[in-house]
Amino acid sequence: MRLNRNPVRQLPIYRRHLLAGAYETTSVARRLQCLPSQLAACRELSSKAEPAQSRLSDEYAQPQTNAPVLSDMFGRFHNYLRISVTERCNLRCQYCMPAEGIELSPNSHLLTTEEILRVARIFVAQGVDKIRLTGGEPTVRKDIVELVRGLNSLRPLGLKHIAMTTNGIALRRKLPLLREAGMNGLNISLDTRDPRKFEAFTRRKGSDHVLRAIADACALGYDFVKVNVVVMRGQNDDEVPAFVEMTHDDPVDVRFIEYMPFDGNQWGRKKLVGYYEMIDRLKLVYGDSIVQLPLEPNHTAKGYKIDGYRGQFGFITSMTKSFCSSCNRVRVMADGNLKVCLFGNTEVGLRDLIRAGASDAEVVDTISQAIKRKKRAHAGLDILSQLPNRPMIKIGG
Ligand code: SAM
Repeated sequence: MRLNRNPVRQLPIYRRHLLAGAYETTSVARRLQCLPSQLAACRELSSKAEPAQSRLSDEYAQPQTNAPVLSDMFGRFHNYLRISVTERCNLRCQYCMPAEGIELSPNSHLLTTEEILRVARIFVAQGVDKIRLTGGEPTVRKDIVELVRGLNSLRPLGLKHIAMTTNGIALRRKLPLLREAGMNGLNISLDTRDPRKFEAFTRRKGSDHVLRAIADACALGYDFVKVNVVVMRGQNDDEVPAFVEMTHDDPVDVRFIEYMPFDGNQWGRKKLVGYYEMIDRLKLVYGDSIVQLPLEPNHTAKGYKIDGYRGQFGFITSMTKSFCSSCNRVRVMADGNLKVCLFGNTEVGLRDLIRAGASDAEVVDTISQAIKRKKRAHAGLDILSQLPNRPMIKIGG
């Protein structure tokens, strides 16, 4: 779909984005289908951007009514789609899944591979350039490699990055195939390096599989390998420095995630270990060797590294310092529901629309309306823990 006939007339819509450094010049230019001669106007605007500054100021967050399909009313463009490709999982992580398990949706309620690829294509045609597969556990899908290959075929439409969040249990043998199919990067979840604690966290065995998958993924030359660690007081917070030590020899990026409340996960404020506490503790260990890294555009993590170490680490501070103002993410869940905010409980069904024979334009319209209804920010910590939401296993982190 052509977004406009006169790209330069659309530039004012993007002016704030460019000035805030929220987008690369080339991605705006591509979205506007600029001619080479019109690129200069984009470049001039972005040359005035503050470096590494992607936060939207209050002034920036004014309603914008004539924005493209994936823009919301606060000027945030959603170029990052997370797709949950299954509700099934081979682990039973305590912070993710209620102890009694979850009721799985019948297969007929889940998007088929063809439907997932159609939804992905529709989003990419509107400007999504990064897709992350999640779940449930994406590697339990028999056709995960074919699915990645299908997504890879969307690159000519503008898709640049394909990534996956996985628990790593059944990943190792698939690593070369996934890489060859077009997967760029992996987030591998591992909350403890202690095999006994691993069992307590996940209600299953298998930490050695995960550690070996992390090592192999690094060796195979994926663009990035991140290790997701959900930090819980009294359970694994003492291991934070040990996880930082993983970055000594391996080019991994360890992400410490603040424990978030979801239905049935027994969240409690006391179990939350905030970013400031973690960084303070690390300063006691590493002193001035801790280097803070510049914020990336649309960052979720505040990045750091230890001077001289190969890898880096960061903190996902959803609980103590949310990053709604630069949020560029939307989610499609395994049942085809679109969720525009991880903590919002409103969902819009795409599956039935598609099965009723909707055209791409009709699906685009529904997506656009949902995104235009996205709130400026999600509720604060105390309210969030009281609000109903799906269990995380059914959303996809
Ligand atoms: N099965 C895959 C995995 O374990 O990575 C993908 C799905 S899992 C829901 C995605 C991510 O969400 C994981 O990194 C997990 O640690 C994170 N997650 C799940 N529940 C969470 C919670 N309550 N708070 C913070 N992160 C959570």
